[in-house]
Amino acid sequence: MALIEIEGAVKRYGPATALDGVSLQVDAGACVALVGESGSGKTTLLRAINGLTALDEGHAHVRGEPVASLDPVALRRSIGYVQQDGGLIPHWTCLGNAALVPSLLGMADAAERGRNALDATGLDPTIFGGRYPRELSGGQRQRVAIARAVAADPDVLLMDEPFGALDAVTRFEAQEAFLALRGAAGVTAVLVTHDLAEALRIATRIAVMRAGKVVLEAASGDLSAEAREEAARGNGYAAELLKKSGVAA
Ligand code: ADP
Ligand code: MG
Repeated sequence: MALIEIEGAVKRYGPATALDGVSLQVDAGACVALVGESGSGKTTLLRAINGLTALDEGHAHVRGEPVASLDPVALRRSIGYVQQDGGLIPHWTCLGNAALVPSLLGMADAAERGRNALDATGLDPTIFGGRYPRELSGGQRQRVAIARAVAADPDVLLMDEPFGALDAVTRFEAQEAFLALRGAAGVTAVLVTHDLAEALRIATRIAVMRAGKVVLEAASGDLSAEAREEAARGNGYAAELLKKSGVAA
C-alpha cells in the first residue's frame, strides 16, 4: 500500500513553477530519496506532503487521506520533519526541542522520549539535554533536529538534507542510525539529499527532480540501467548527475 501518494502536483509562486506535475508514490516501509539540483522543487514537494504548502493543482494523500482535507496541525504532529536548516527553537534547550512533538501530543513520557531520541542520534542527553542550540556545532544541531523528528515514533518521516551539515564520519554514523531506525520501526521516509552515494546507500528508491518534475525514478538497485536508458533518451542532466556520482558508466 502506498502510504504517501502524490498525483499531478503543481505549485506556482508568481511566475515561478516550483512543482510542475509531480506524481510520486511511497509504499509503506519504503525510503525514497529525492535528488536534484537546487531549486528543482524538492523542499516544496516535502512541504506538500505535510500540508505546509498547499498545491495549486493535483493532490497529495497520506495514509489514504487527502492532505487538503486533514487538520493541518494534527497532520504535522503525526509526521516527523527534519527541515533543511534544522529549524530548532533557539531559546529552548536541546531536550526541550527533542521532546517538542511528544509534549504537543500530550504524551506522559515526553521528556523520556526526548532523552531517548537524543541518545539514539549519538548525543548524550545528560551532557547535551540542557544546552541551547547556539552552544552546539552544526552537526550536533542537525542531530537534535533528527531526534526531534523521531521522538514521537512517527510512521512517516520527511527529511530535508538531514546529513548535509555533518562531517564524513558523523555523516556515516547518522546514516547508520537512520538505517537502524528504519529497520526497527519500519518507518516510511522521504529523504532529500544532494549526495547520490548516500541515496543509494540508504534509500530503497530514488527520484531525480529537475525543474519541478520527477525526471527519473527507479529502485536503488536498478538505477544504473535506468540511468543509461535515460541518457539514451537524451536526458543529459540525469546522466550527468549519475555519472558524476559514479553510479552510471
Ligand atoms: P529545492 O528544495 O529543490 O532547492 P525548492 O522547493 O525550495 O527547491 O524551490 C523550488 C522553486 O520554487 C525555486 O525556484 C524557489 O525559488 C521557488 N520557491 C520555493 N518556495 C518559495 C516561496 N515561499 N516563495 C517564492 N518562491 C518559492
Ligand atoms: Mg530545498
